[in-house]
Amino acid sequence: MRVSEDIKNLIAYKPGKPIAETQREFGISRVIKLASNENPLGPSPKAIEALRAHLNDLHRYPDPGGFELSQKISKVWNINKNKIALGNGSNEIIDLLIRIFCEPGEKIATTEKAFLAYPICAQAARVKTVAVPLRADFTIDLIAMANMVLNDTNIRLVFIPNPNNPTGTYVNRTEVEQFLNKVGNRPDLLIVFDEAYNEFVRAQDYASGQEWLNQYPSVVVMRTFSKVYGLAGLRLGVMMADPEVIDLYHKVRNPFNTNELAQVAATAAIEDTEYLRASQKVVWEGLDQIYKGLRELDLNFLESQANFVLFDTQREAIQVYDLLLRQGLILRPVANYGLPRHLRWTVGLKEENLIILKALKEILIKVHPMK
Ligand SMILES: *Cc1c(COP(=O)(O)O)cnc(C)c1O
Repeated sequence: MRVSEDIKNLIAYKPGKPIAETQREFGISRVIKLASNENPLGPSPKAIEALRAHLNDLHRYPDPGGFELSQKISKVWNINKNKIALGNGSNEIIDLLIRIFCEPGEKIATTEKAFLAYPICAQAARVKTVAVPLRADFTIDLIAMANMVLNDTNIRLVFIPNPNNPTGTYVNRTEVEQFLNKVGNRPDLLIVFDEAYNEFVRAQDYASGQEWLNQYPSVVVMRTFSKVYGLAGLRLGVMMADPEVIDLYHKVRNPFNTNELAQVAATAAIEDTEYLRASQKVVWEGLDQIYKGLRELDLNFLESQANFVLFDTQREAIQVYDLLLRQGLILRPVANYGLPRHLRWTVGLKEENLIILKALKEILIKVHPMK
């Protein structure tokens, strides 16, 4: 087939191992999947109720403008309606932003060990990715990022995952402020804050990019219903941006990019504060439980502002991963992020975390540490 080198060489995103596949391969029924940063509580009961009530309308096309959901988002997140657009997960928004704002051969900038959707979507659009190294403590170096952007006029978009996946680290208010001071006023550069884990942040000096939306028309903020809102299976992402960016986005997106059930469920979930609080609680308590367990196992980890923990197995992580998998326990290998000794562990229910900790303890004895 005649196809460009960029497409031929593309390495597809590798999602967490599905539960059903693990059951088939190992002939086991009990599988605990803590590999994709999903909400361990299941969907919001209010979302399920709303979905049931809408099943009889599935023969209709969805609302192309997502009117009701946008209305709710505007109210609950305190953002003007003309600054909101919806996507088929944030993944689609990433894809479209790159297609809209980059010509083939131009560049996006991000950091090393950032969400892999950015370079994959870029390459699919024949756009190059440049990445600054993380600091030694795995945090994003926004000073280096600003310098890179200032020295390269081909960069059209900057992606700042805050907090970052797979590290769980964040950039603070002052760092963001200084970054925007340097590069926030350019008409040829958009700065995208990917805030998929926003609701899990406990750090006091964290600030959402939303705070700068009015001051800098170049700031874009992405949120998702896949994590704290527990709707990963329905695919609903949100973009907040200057109306000019929103208008361009509406021109390019497919008219029915977000489906009716996703809109209905998200509209219900966003107002379910009881569920939101419960989701935060299970993650925060779970993080503390996992930290304690990992300390007892003498394993280093990064303190996380998200719903997962990146930890150093001090071994070839894939061996630890495989032995866990045989017991039906799915964590996430991150060798594709250049981290062959680490695993990413999504916070589960207390009992689930306990099962993983117990299994890890036994497995660590069997696998030799790396030098
Ligand atoms: C999980 C995640 C998302 C959410 O993606 P969706 O397509 O909305 O499910 C976005 N960005 C990062 C960094 C993530 O880890």
